[in-house]
Amino acid sequence: MPNTASSTAYFTHPSFGLHDMGAGHPESPARLAAIDEALQATGLAERLRRVQARPASRDELLLAHEPQYLDGLMARLVGVKGVVQLDPDTAANEHTLDAALHAAGAALQAADWVCSGRARRAFCALRPPGHHATRSKAMGFCFFNNAALAARAALERHGLRRVAVVDFDVHHGNGTEDILAGDPRCLMVGLFEHPLYPFSGVPPRGDNMLNLPLAAHTGSQEVRELIRAHWMPALERFRPELIVVSAGFDAHQLDPLGLIRLSEVDYAWITEQLVDVANRHAQGRVLSVLEGGYHVWALARSVCAHLRVLIHP
Ligand SMILES: [Zn+2]
Repeated sequence: MPNTASSTAYFTHPSFGLHDMGAGHPESPARLAAIDEALQATGLAERLRRVQARPASRDELLLAHEPQYLDGLMARLVGVKGVVQLDPDTAANEHTLDAALHAAGAALQAADWVCSGRARRAFCALRPPGHHATRSKAMGFCFFNNAALAARAALERHGLRRVAVVDFDVHHGNGTEDILAGDPRCLMVGLFEHPLYPFSGVPPRGDNMLNLPLAAHTGSQEVRELIRAHWMPALERFRPELIVVSAGFDAHQLDPLGLIRLSEVDYAWITEQLVDVANRHAQGRVLSVLEGGYHVWALARSVCAHLRVLIHP
């Protein structure tokens, strides 16, 4: 097991496997089970420093969310019996609050570790995901915005001046945009199928947002050209001190929720581009949190491809 500051930390928690939005829901515990199995089968697990996540505190959640939202959500989720719908896509069971607090805690703890030099890179294998959660609303399978919390913690608590947030989930990260739009300390670059849920992102809400809407059926070469032409120059100019990745793998060609045609090879390529920027400007620091990805086999293979690059110097 690697035990140096150059290692990649892997944050997870048992509660992530207990949050369940009901039979047939695509955002299911089977996703993390498949990732875990693939990490064992490929030997990648041995190259990661596995850490059990801590829960987020209320003060930490206030870095990205409004107090009224937190109060209302707690009131709804404490003591839940069975499965309760929050919106047509988003539901909670008795373990959801614990899982959501540990998911946010994983991202915050990853920020602690990466910003303090305890690890150079981190991946948070978490559920529920976060990039649709706005300052004041749970939606799209998301409760707390894990990526935005990590970015804000790096800025507010660790003294970083510039954090880039990169979102390659097939759905627009409307929640992250809601939280970070207009914050000049953050640059958010994203790609997403458009039009597709949540039907936002065109045009972006802030000058610090660079959105690449993709038509259905867009393939690997076109995505790579767009990233080279738009993301890379913007990231170079911004010179981030940390890159936070909203790592959704539902733009995979096998994914049932989107129609973009990426493969695990593309996820490795995208990760290489981000690691290059991080190595030039951010002391190599990359903090990645899981978002979507609903074909469990494709998800597991894509996470392995992403991690193989993150592990490499
Ligand atoms: Zn998604």
